[in-house]
Amino acid sequence: MIMRDFGGEVPSEMEQLLKLPGVARKTANVVSAHAFGNIQGVTVDTHVKRLSNRWKLTKSDNPIQIERDLMALLPQPEWEKYSIRTIYHGRAVCKARKPQCDVCQLVQFCPSAKEYLN
Ligand code: SF4
Repeated sequence: MIMRDFGGEVPSEMEQLLKLPGVARKTANVVSAHAFGNIQGVTVDTHVKRLSNRWKLTKSDNPIQIERDLMALLPQPEWEKYSIRTIYHGRAVCKARKPQCDVCQLVQFCPSAKEYLN
């Protein structure tokens, strides 16, 4: 499809990326931001989904709605940085099963800390 419809070049625009088989907004956002420097949305993976809910930045578990909520809250230049930082924090500290609130630098700001601290 890239050869046939896009002249052999990966497209940079969201609308075109979403036409590619297997590409949804998560992948399209990553490709767009990292390959083209074109920030068109917030990448919502499993970490962004979990942490954005723990931080009460969204009430949804639907990635499309989570992305909408985050885009409304965050300045556009921060969208991809938010995703990257959140993914790293989710991998290293705010893990799915056992968030490490006792060593988390966000503990004083986090609305979910009480839930996990003993
Ligand atoms: S305080 Fe706990 S729940 Fe909040 S971000 Fe840190 S590790 Fe996650």
